[in-house]
Amino acid sequence: MIRDINRKKVTKNAWRLTSSRNKTCLRIRVPGGHLDARHLDLMKHIAQQFGNGTVHLTTRQGFEIPGIDFNAMAQINELISEYIKETEQKIGVQIPTPREGYPSAGTRNISACIGNRVCPFANYDTTSMALEIEKTVYPNDFHVKLALTGCPNDCIKAHMQDIGIIGQALPELESQACIGCEACVKNCRKKVTNALTVVDHKVERDNRRCIGCGECVLVCPTQAWSRNPVKYFRLVIMGRTGKKNPRLAAPFAEWLTQDEVIAILKNLYPYIDRHIDRSLVKEHVGYIADRTGYKELRNWLLKGIKLNPRARIAKTMQWSGYEYGYDTDRWDCSQTIAESTGE
Ligand code: SF4
Ligand code: SF4
Ligand code: SF4
Repeated sequence: MIRDINRKKVTKNAWRLTSSRNKTCLRIRVPGGHLDARHLDLMKHIAQQFGNGTVHLTTRQGFEIPGIDFNAMAQINELISEYIKETEQKIGVQIPTPREGYPSAGTRNISACIGNRVCPFANYDTTSMALEIEKTVYPNDFHVKLALTGCPNDCIKAHMQDIGIIGQALPELESQACIGCEACVKNCRKKVTNALTVVDHKVERDNRRCIGCGECVLVCPTQAWSRNPVKYFRLVIMGRTGKKNPRLAAPFAEWLTQDEVIAILKNLYPYIDRHIDRSLVKEHVGYIADRTGYKELRNWLLKGIKLNPRARIAKTMQWSGYEYGYDTDRWDCSQTIAESTGE
């Protein structure tokens, strides 16, 4: 039990309560999980001078520096102010007093796979878009988790987020450059969604099956396939971990432009503000959506947005997820297993 600590102020300031009574842990945001290496000196200095000498890399791609005395918080807030200026203020995030540390922690670090700065499968620059999103959503204090992934491979696990943003490529075929090798057709059939077929010696793409992974572009030996220069995105929403009812996010929209994604994220916060249960310390947005229903959520998310002609939005929503409880029809106990196996 920690006494004499203003819990709300500590956590809102992005520090955290820990299992050690008089110690706290500094949390550092790294939007998009991509950092100029020179900043690592700061993490090392704080860990060695004020913490227990270790640094934890969080599952959301930020840093946590544990073992810090509560009375060192103000001094460290001052120390990280330059970092906050360079990683937040510089990209347009409104933090009026960086010397007082991070102003909120509710909207978690925006995480992202490495994107097209490194990965050949990526359909866009995930780091740049993560910074755009950071500017849009931080320092909002509602509890929201967002992540970006460069292609439908989903290395960042966008399906475990409140909003997962998945890069889509619109593949375009230059028929005259096609030599009919069918490498794209076979690859899409084996590894993706079987969206390509050969009709009258011509490759055809089924719009309804194509998920915009961009693999056809990568496997074509003659570059007959290319990515349309417009970057498109699929959004999956209201996935979550947690104790109550973990579940995968479900597809909400496809073939959105970046501006449309940003507009939807902007609309998410007024929706939470309108519907959150303020009797709780914090309410996870997925549970708000369960309470209001999909239609209300959809209306808020799309408010005032004129979608591009290619965009598609889910008419209805069916989330997966599981609940606890011992349903004897579903679970075997050790005795019935022993009986059935004769052990
Ligand atoms: S999700 Fe796609 S783009 Fe991102 S790292 Fe994985 S394969 Fe590469
Ligand atoms: S991989 Fe390229 S060349 Fe081969 S069938 Fe497909 S489009 Fe044509
Ligand atoms: S983008 Fe992916 S899903 Fe669409 S046709 Fe190409 S390989 Fe198939």
